[in-house]
Amino acid sequence: MTILTASQIIQQYRLTRDMHTHTVCSHGIFYAHGKGTILENVRAAAARGLCEVAITDHGPGHQLYGLDQANLPRMREEIARAMELVPGVKVWLGVEANIVDTPSGLDVSEDYFSQYDLVLAGYHYGTAKGHMLGNWMTSHRLTPSGSRASLSAHNTDMTLRALYGHDIMTLTHPCDKGPFDLRALCKACEETNTLMEINTRHRHLTADELRTAMEYDVRFIIDSDAHRPQEVGNYAGGMLRALHAGLDLTRIVNIEPVSSFK
Ligand SMILES: [Zn+2]
Ligand SMILES: [Zn+2]
Repeated sequence: MTILTASQIIQQYRLTRDMHTHTVCSHGIFYAHGKGTILENVRAAAARGLCEVAITDHGPGHQLYGLDQANLPRMREEIARAMELVPGVKVWLGVEANIVDTPSGLDVSEDYFSQYDLVLAGYHYGTAKGHMLGNWMTSHRLTPSGSRASLSAHNTDMTLRALYGHDIMTLTHPCDKGPFDLRALCKACEETNTLMEINTRHRHLTADELRTAMEYDVRFIIDSDAHRPQEVGNYAGGMLRALHAGLDLTRIVNIEPVSSFK
């Protein structure tokens, strides 16, 4: 029997869609967070052989580079033009909403949900109501374990509010940038049918965390979280983590065996 290496297994699969990418539409006063335009991300998706790509810039509550929702009509126009210029790639307008400690748990209000094709949600530094200092210090092992427990409770509560209160497609990079109760997040994703992300850019979910998540009836998605066009469609790092964890690859919704690709 031939035993394949991880890289050989990865080569037997292809990513079909990358549903988490950033563009210059995430921008602050001084600089753009994503480095490419919508069209550049779409061209990159085509070059990588993807069928679909989502433009998911940061929610408006991010103080350094949140999306200006007044620009959504212009982004729709850019997406329509990109789909004309690059046939064969379906392009979605989404947002990576920020999970924040407010009653709704999100920085995108329900009024705006209908303006997006899909909403992702993730925790980030840089929002006014996100326990940023405590999370940053805890992630850098600068706080005692006692405060870590209460911070984890806050972080988990606000995430559960976001998940149970809204129609979220994907929980992005779960457990990144602060302590969370992973099992509570998994249970919420299971009950709300929310995808758990294997993020190629961020180290969470780690292989260990994936092994815990595998115990729940959840599905996974590999996203590049590209901030540059050349990163669109990056998935090998996520696949590697999935393989290390022993994840049944059929639970990843956006890969398929190369042999089935016509
Ligand atoms: Zn993110
Ligand atoms: Zn992102």
